[in-house]
Order: sequence, then C-alpha cells, then structure tokens
Amino acid sequence: MKCEKCSEFRELPLHLHELYMFCDLLRNKSDVYKLSKNELKQETEAHTESIAKWLKLASQLDNVQLNPFRYEEAHYWCESAGDELDSDAYHNSSIITPLTRFLFISNALEETYRFTNSQYEFHYARAQLKNNSLERKRNYSAQAAWLLDEVYSDLEVPLHYGHKVDGYLAQVKEYQKRFDNSFDIQLENNGKLSFGLSLVRNIRNHIAHGVFPIVDNPEYSHECFNPKTKNLILNILGFSSRIATMNIQIILNATHHGFESEFYRYLCGDPDFGHKLEQCITPEYLRRLHLKQDFGLNESSQWAIRSTWEEEG
Ligand SMILES: [Zn+2]
Repeated sequence: MKCEKCSEFRELPLHLHELYMFCDLLRNKSDVYKLSKNELKQETEAHTESIAKWLKLASQLDNVQLNPFRYEEAHYWCESAGDELDSDAYHNSSIITPLTRFLFISNALEETYRFTNSQYEFHYARAQLKNNSLERKRNYSAQAAWLLDEVYSDLEVPLHYGHKVDGYLAQVKEYQKRFDNSFDIQLENNGKLSFGLSLVRNIRNHIAHGVFPIVDNPEYSHECFNPKTKNLILNILGFSSRIATMNIQIILNATHHGFESEFYRYLCGDPDFGHKLEQCITPEYLRRLHLKQDFGLNESSQWAIRSTWEEEG
C-alpha cells in the first residue's frame, strides 16, 4: 500500500518523460568554465537538450535483456539447468533494468551540474569577496550542492520532496546496515537542501566503484537468502532515480532562462489552444510535473485536455 503522499506521484517513467519534454522545450545552453593557471576560461557548453536526451532514454527503457544460454550447452540435456538459467536471467534483468535507468538519470544529473557551473562561478566570486579563504569546489556536483545550500536554500521545492527524502534515508540506513558500504556523509538529515543529492551521489559512487551489491537469485540461491534483500535493492534504485530526477527539477528551477525552443513557440502559437497551452507550460510546471494531474506534455494528456477545452468551447 502506498501512502497518501506517494500515491499523488506519477509513475516514474511518466515523471521522466514529462521532465524530458520540459528540458527539450527549454533548449537552454550555459557556458562551462575551467580554472587553468589561476585563470577562469570558458571551455565548453552545457545544454538542457542533453539532459533531455538522457531522460528520454530513461523514460523509454523497458527491459534490459540477458541471454544466459550464450555460452551454456547444458540446456540440451538438462531441463532443470535451463529453468535455473531462465530464472537467473529474469532475476538479474529485474535488477539491472532499474539500475540502468538510474545510470541514465545520473548522466542527466551530471549535465545538470555542468549547466549550473556559470552560476557557481558568479556566486563563488561574490562570496569570495566577503571571505577570501573560501574554498573553491572543484567538481560540478559539489558546486551544485554549494549553490543549493548557500544561494538557493529558500527555493520552493517540488511538492512532497521532503517526504521522499525521508523515505529514501530510511531505506539507505537499512542498506548501509545490510551491506556496510561507506558513505561520506552522516546518515541523518542535516536539513540542508543538498542532503537528498548527497545520498544519490553516494549510491551512484557505490555503483561506479563496483561495490553496489548484485544480489543472488532468491529462487536458486544456495545460501539462506532473505527475500527482503532484493526488495531493499529495488527500493534503493527506485528512490535514487526519483530523488535524482526531482533534483534536476530543483536545480533547473533555479537556473533555467525560460523557454527558448522553436517547439515551445510552435505549441503556444497554436491558433486554437496556444493561449491555453501557454498557461499550462510554465516554469511553475517544473515544480509539479511529478504529480498526477490533467495536463501533461505527453501526447495522450494533451489530446485529453484539448478535447475537454473543445467541449468547453
Ligand atoms: Zn509516502
């Protein structure tokens, strides 16, 4: 049973799809700087279009398939060995599909960090005037976390974000107890805006460093296997994906420069409903696109709402 707050959420793939569409409608770009020999130089650019592409992949991902028989010949003579391989493939696929989805979302999050770099350089330079011993954050994720805590701390976050972070933390504590993987933060909510992001970064690092557990198939495990372990892993991946996606919403909410795409102009220039769409496709929608509602950037919601508007005349 889902709690009341969680049942207000759209399913994760639709949440991802809406954010992908939103980022694509923005089509913002932002300079990315690099410090070399004490001089700040513009090196590359970050694009919301790239964020959109990774989110689109994450939203469209259905199933990562495995072929357990590729180098096995036992199934020719032993049916039960075949059953076990099938069962293993099904089990592994049920873990690596959400894991792959989380990695795609993490790539979208990386590009979001890069997108905020110019904001970081601007605010860091100002803060340094007041405190010249202020340490410069080297990597983009730490820069984004600094912006959240020091510059955007009063930002209005997407509805129920705090509730999701609480749920995530409870699962992360269980995971830490079970697998003893190390975290570079205290597993207590410090009340900072960047806390959810820090949890995501730690889990992402566990995967990158190969210590994230690929748990055994409970059906064929030779050891005494607790089926709750698999659920725990799936919950960690689900929460990590949701919190990472909501952080893209939070960060872009503070740093985007409004809609700059042709497609946005095309939608809002629609002779019948352009003016109504313009009232729906707003920066405010970025804070609410994870919730169930009549309006959606996905086509089926758009057709549904257009036909309601048609009836209203
Ligand atoms: Zn809940």
